[in-house]
Amino acid sequence: MMKSGLHPEMKKTKVTCVCGAEFEMLSVRDELKTEICSNCHPFYTGKTKRITAGGRVEKFNKKYGIQK
Ligand SMILES: [Zn+2]
Repeated sequence: MMKSGLHPEMKKTKVTCVCGAEFEMLSVRDELKTEICSNCHPFYTGKTKRITAGGRVEKFNKKYGIQK
């Protein structure tokens, strides 16, 4: 078994969104906070237009390594 800092261990991390939603995802962190999630993600809700959401979504995707 290898133990090095090259590949931090991924574990289930509790993510809390500013909208109040909580969910789990794999991360190396113990706890995460986000300002956007599937609950308030414009792609899912369709409430917000890209004008306001584009940057945040991109930031969110980058933050969690979500590939398109
Ligand atoms: Zn949310």
